[in-house]
Amino acid sequence: MTAKANIAVIGTGGTIAGQGEAAVNTSAYACSVLGIDAILDTIPQARALANLRAEQLLQIGSENFDNTHLLAIGRRLSSLLAQDDVDGAVVTHGTDTIEETAYFLHLTLKSAKPVVVVGSMRPPSALSSDAALNLYDAIAVAAHPSSRGLGTLVVANDEIHTARDVVKSNSFKLEAFRSPYGMLGYVIEGQPRYYRSPARAHTLATPWSIDTLSTLPKVDIVYAYGALDRGAVEAIAAGAQGLIYAGTGNGNIAGHLLEPLRDAARRGVRVVRATRTGNGIVLRNGAQPDDEYGWLTVDDQIPPKARILLALALTQSSDARVLQAIFERY
Ligand code: ASP
Repeated sequence: MTAKANIAVIGTGGTIAGQGEAAVNTSAYACSVLGIDAILDTIPQARALANLRAEQLLQIGSENFDNTHLLAIGRRLSSLLAQDDVDGAVVTHGTDTIEETAYFLHLTLKSAKPVVVVGSMRPPSALSSDAALNLYDAIAVAAHPSSRGLGTLVVANDEIHTARDVVKSNSFKLEAFRSPYGMLGYVIEGQPRYYRSPARAHTLATPWSIDTLSTLPKVDIVYAYGALDRGAVEAIAAGAQGLIYAGTGNGNIAGHLLEPLRDAARRGVRVVRATRTGNGIVLRNGAQPDDEYGWLTVDDQIPPKARILLALALTQSSDARVLQAIFERY
């Protein structure tokens, strides 16, 4: 019999740590109240999958997470993964921004050991809660040798997703997590089954290490709509090193906003055209002459992930060609 894997479980809050007044409260409940030990106590079966070592790092809803929280989670994971007696890690996390934290870890952790970020759409107290099974599945995935080298994974609703692609795409349903090119695999009765692996570079193959990052440059997002006024764009651009413009369609920009965005680029703000559609590529020099205006485009990264990637990219370079290549590589 092979020895059980040693898995570190880090609690950070969210619905998976939530509690409702009644079992019918599937959407109205208090978030981030149960400690990680109490959550693990609901799944004694997980002890058959792995030796668990739990710790509470944070206890807050992920809608509150700023760069300092991401850095804190990354640093703690890095020091745990460096230990010989830790084979993988699970982070319990709110679902609201799970894809941002997961993508950040995917790009900055320097380890092939499995890291799984997991949340739930219903608190443990609700009817048909997904909390216990999602956590059980996450531990199963983190403990399994086939999960090594795949970067950071998000497990929910019997599915394993790569951090790069996964997006929370429903506000309340259990089936909330989608990857535009499909999941990597399923988890069934404590066994992961993979059908594909991530194509883009991650973890050991990126230039970023969580161990040397102390802050992240300020990158903001502007969400496009017809009546968006110039002053709002100027105000956001004034305080940022990078600006993700979540444009309509293929990164389209209303005529009255061209000048403030061009002006921002002239002042050295890195302006990136993205799309608010939730899916698809933004074509460079397509809807706008990006070369002429000194703008960048995302490849297919949704605006919140583009924010993470640009912030990391700006720690390396401010050269537009280097930054553009980063969007196409990660
Ligand atoms: N507000 C919660 C959070 O992201 C929602 C959830 O966990 O589903 O922390």
